[in-house]
This record gives sequence, C-alpha cells and structure tokens, in this order.
Amino acid sequence: MKAVIIGAGMGGTSAAIALRQLGHEVEVYEQVTENRPVGAAISVWSNGVKCLNHLGLEAETAALGGIVDSMSYVDAFTGETMCRFSMAPLIDEVGQRPYPIARADLQLMLMNAFGHDEIRFGKKMVAVHDGPEHATVEFADGSTAHGDIVIAADGARSLARDYVLGRIVERRYAGYVNFNGLVPIDEEIGPATEWTTYVGDSRRVSVMPVADNRFYFFFDVTMSEGAPFERGTARDVLAEEFAAWAPGVQKLIRALDPETTNRVEILDTDPFHTWVKGRVALLGDAAHNTTPDIGQGGCSAMEDAIALQFAFRDHADDPHAALAAYERSRTERAADLVLRARKRCDVTHGKDPEATAAWYEELRSEDGTNVIRGIVGNIVGGPLT
Ligand code: FAD
Repeated sequence: MKAVIIGAGMGGTSAAIALRQLGHEVEVYEQVTENRPVGAAISVWSNGVKCLNHLGLEAETAALGGIVDSMSYVDAFTGETMCRFSMAPLIDEVGQRPYPIARADLQLMLMNAFGHDEIRFGKKMVAVHDGPEHATVEFADGSTAHGDIVIAADGARSLARDYVLGRIVERRYAGYVNFNGLVPIDEEIGPATEWTTYVGDSRRVSVMPVADNRFYFFFDVTMSEGAPFERGTARDVLAEEFAAWAPGVQKLIRALDPETTNRVEILDTDPFHTWVKGRVALLGDAAHNTTPDIGQGGCSAMEDAIALQFAFRDHADDPHAALAAYERSRTERAADLVLRARKRCDVTHGKDPEATAAWYEELRSEDGTNVIRGIVGNIVGGPLT
C-alpha cells in the first residue's frame, strides 16, 4: 500500500512513521520550504509521550523533555502560592511522565525519525480527490501525487477538510490571544522543575521547563479578534497588560525576547464526525482543531497516528475498511477533548466571571486531587491507554 501524507507537522510525521512501521510505502508532502514550527513549545502529556514511545522515540523524547515534578497556581497580584502539589500521583496513575518539549526540537525529532531528506518540502496541495483505484493530490506547482490513501494532516486551516465534509468549516474565536516563547530558567519566575501558573483577572501566565535549561512561557490575554499588533512589540504590550502583576511576571516580561515571542489568536472548530471520504482521511488539527487549554491538540494528533496504524494492522488489504475503522475509533475521543478544552477555556478566561472567581477560590484549597483527576480524565481514552 502507498500512503500520501499532506503536512509534515506533528500529526503528519507521526502518521508517516506509524504507517512505515507496518511496512507501507509513504510519501510526505509539505508546503513550507523549511522546518519552522509556529509556537515555542508544547506540553506533551502522558498519552502523547506514549505515542512517541510507540513510534520508537522513547529515549529521544525523554532527552528533549523538561522535568515537571510539581504544579503550582500563584495569585497574579500578590504572588502568593494558592496551591502546590506533586505530579507523582498522576505519573503513577497513568504510567508515564509528561514532557514539555520545544516545538522545533519535537518537530525535528519526528522529521528525522521519518527521514528529513525524504520529506518533499515546497509542495502546496491545492486540491484532493478520491477515486476508484487511488486518491490524487494536486499541487500548486502543477504536479500530482497518487496513493492508495491520502492522509490530510494539513492543520487547522485544512483544505482537505472542506473536501471531506463537502462544506466550508468556520473556525470559532475563543476570546483570547496567546503570547509564547522561551527564556532561560529563572527561579524568581518559578521553580526549575515546576509548571507554575499565575492566575487572576481572567488571564494566566505560565512557565514550564523544557530541555537545555529553558522555560516555555505563555501569556493568555483576553481581547477581541483581529486586534492590531506589530511584531517585535510583545514586551511593551505585555508590560502594559500585566503592569499590576506579581514580581515573577515582571521578571518574565523583562527576560523575554520580543523579536521571537509568538502571538497566536486562539480558535477552534465545532467537533464533526466525518473524517473520511473514500480513500481520503483527515488527521490532527484538520480533523479536530482545539483550543490549547488542556494541552491536548498535538497529543490527539499523535493518537490519531497510532489509531491509523492499528486500523491498517487490522485491515491490511482493505483501505476503505481500515479508514472506516480509524474514523470509528477516533471521532468521539477527539470531540471529547475539543469540548473539554473549550469548557476549561471558558473558566480560565472569564466567560462567566462568577465561575472564574469560584475556580480561584477552589485553587486556594486545592491539594492536587481535583486538578490531577481532571488531567487524568484528558489523558486516558486514547489508543494506548
Ligand atoms: P500542524 O502542526 O498545523 O501541521 C500542519 C502542517 O501541514 C504544517 O506544516 C503546514 O505547513 C502543512 N500544510 C498545511 N496546508 C498544506 C497544504 N495545502 N499543502 C501542504 N502542506 C500543508 N498541543 C498539545 O498537545 N499540547 C500543548 O501544550 C499545546 N499547546 C498549544 C499552544 C498553542 C498556542 C497552540 C496554538 C496550539 C497548541 N497545541 C498543543 C496544539 C498543537 O500545536 C496542534 O494540535 C498540533 O500542531 C497539530 O498538529 P498537525 O500536524 O495536525 O497540524
């Protein structure tokens, strides 16, 4: 069987490795001309790490991952710790440590595991079609590719999604903008092995460690969609938005590099349950674009890749049956994660200010049990749990 994969993000590359593990021929096409991931880092929760381990990347992943031994919530204005608890109960329960990883490192690891030089960069898909013998992709340069299957891992603005669903899918603005980047670890901002989150005023500021003594940081700022922003001005914007916040946040604002700080408007899509049209299937954000509020979008994309492998393992000679099995195994789980993230997003960002205030109160008496229960609920339910 030959699989054509569109998109060399974490979904597409994971799927490429997973299908090749079964011995299939795999071609990967990517529109950009070089690996330049958008965003500084992501938290790969235990379910995502299990997927990477399954793809043979256990040692590499552990080497790139930051060690998070504890979590804490801090009052935005006083700097007082609202709660702090160990991650050990979570790791014990799910059997795998999560790892925050710099995006560029994660992306390069996956690309190298497939074969960086084999990825066909600079190939922008402009159309995809199902067919009786094979599916076809057309590229902007006029060339085409054929496969027994086409896996469209073409991200949140997926073109293939509109083809598979037969309609244009609108994305929904979630109400906030996320600024993110990397800074050297600084214990005045947060402890080196802790995921620290400052909360207040329906906003949050977080730091967590990744490899090479760096913190991945992000600021969530509620604002209207399309607010003007000039690249390079992140420090000024954040200094103004967070002027009244605790000293650790001020230190972070001074430490960040405004030239490399990313600014992302956060959107998601309503879940849908048709991911397959004939020999064409959606995977990753193309199928389930979520807000990052529970850190599961990329993990879910990697779960898709493993589920796809299992479907082709079980239906080796029948692409239609395999893709149907893939779709059946994934849509409910992925939809659940999108909706869980949306709910978390609303509480964190003050959709109902009373609910947000009640959450802050809960955090002051939290011993970790509730937070960890929630995270375990996100982690469990994929193909490897
Ligand atoms: P992408 O990573 O978007 O990759 C799609 C690829 O397809 C791109 O390389 C693109 O160039 C290519 N492409 C698109 N169109 C075409 C075309 N027409 N032709 C050829 N190539 C094409 N997830 C987590 O698990 N944990 C987190 O902590 C986390 N934090 C996040 C924080 C933020 C601020 C955001 C925005 C997202 C976060 N996510 C997180 C989500 C995660 O980034 C995505 O779910 C993940 O990148 C999806 O991978 P993907 O391969 O499906 O899509």
